[in-house]
Amino acid sequence: MNFHSMSVEELRNTRNDLQKRYETLCAAGLKLDLTRGKPGADQLDLSAPMLSLPGENYTSPNGTDCRNYGGVSGLPELRELFGELFATGTDRTLALGNASLQVMHDIVVFSLLHGNVDSARPWSAEPIKFLCPVPGYDRHFGITELYGIEMINVPMNPNGPDVEACAALLADDPSIKGMWLVPTYSNPTGYTVTDDVARRLLALDAAPDFRIFWDNAYAVHTLVENAPAPLPILDLAAEAGHPDRVYVFGSTSKITFAGAGVAAFASSKANLDWYVEHISAATIGPDKLNQLRHLQFLVDADGVRAHMARHRDIIAPKFQLVLDILDDRLGDAKIASWTTPEGGYFISLDVVDGTAARTIELAKNAGIALTAAGSAFPYKTDPHDRNIRIAPTFPTTDELRTAMDGVATCALLSATEVLLD
Ligand code: PLP
Repeated sequence: MNFHSMSVEELRNTRNDLQKRYETLCAAGLKLDLTRGKPGADQLDLSAPMLSLPGENYTSPNGTDCRNYGGVSGLPELRELFGELFATGTDRTLALGNASLQVMHDIVVFSLLHGNVDSARPWSAEPIKFLCPVPGYDRHFGITELYGIEMINVPMNPNGPDVEACAALLADDPSIKGMWLVPTYSNPTGYTVTDDVARRLLALDAAPDFRIFWDNAYAVHTLVENAPAPLPILDLAAEAGHPDRVYVFGSTSKITFAGAGVAAFASSKANLDWYVEHISAATIGPDKLNQLRHLQFLVDADGVRAHMARHRDIIAPKFQLVLDILDDRLGDAKIASWTTPEGGYFISLDVVDGTAARTIELAKNAGIALTAAGSAFPYKTDPHDRNIRIAPTFPTTDELRTAMDGVATCALLSATEVLLD
């Protein structure tokens, strides 16, 4: 029954029932974890054959001896594979180290120290700001917070960031130098930026050295039959007259091995030259043996898509299970809403305003770890205290079922508490 149309007495009775259910939950001595947006062991097993590659076969198709130094841009064949997956083309795509987050971090630091190709002076010469679609990825916000870059929330809508809000902010503030954005199956909402929103973002008036950090971490991580075709974002940027506005990132972290994959970075030629110049001070080249084994294992973009279908077979039922429990336990009470993503790694759950932290606390006391309240927001501050990020991939199905049922009890109980307050 809808909690909002209950009488005080009905609400009190409901709260008392939920309290009993919660005490039973606590007595079960659970130790469950829904915080980790990482692949389960069965997903990692899919890439196990890669561990015996490249073996003695250490020469790349173009004749590079991958055991040796060099090749800072990465193996050309892997650049081609990434160039197709991200619709960025071989020449504008680099294959790098093990983590795209590090590339993002380094680019922010290089820009602070030196400015980018369109900067009149280093970003650190004056206070600067980033636009942050929310809810978003906590580690993006962690980078900008660490370096004292002011973060401004903009709403993340089902079709992408609120362009009007971005336009209004950018129009009279040249100190806004960047924007974080996960364009496909966004973390944590699962929303995907449409062609129209992308074009409008690219056309906005902004500082010449304004950059969109287009983190396409989930480009091929679909839960349905076909992933959306990636937007040819670099071509769209050039068409919009801002060829250097976009930095594209991706990696095989959630394709092969999380943390032991290969990162991709794509951008205009000017931006790539700038990046390579700076990174060349730090490295003589990426781990080409790891790149080669990825190439041997995945082969090409079709190989990646076939591999992702095997991931989908494992994780789609877990997402469905979470959605079924949310629907079953929270549907009638009308105290929560949640996203129904077609890809990515998360479900974003919004509970009654002012109850996310309480729900997370109740769950914690019952032995169910949820991502800390506010994690998906800059400065870890959820202005409405309502968002909870659910990560269904890592637990087993049984753990997930028990944990989600417990979370639902906690969300309902906290809702009764504020409604009775
Ligand atoms: N970008 C997003 C949006 C993510 O959700 C994650 C991991 O959760 C990463 C980047 C990390 O990628 P990598 O392992 O390539 O650093």
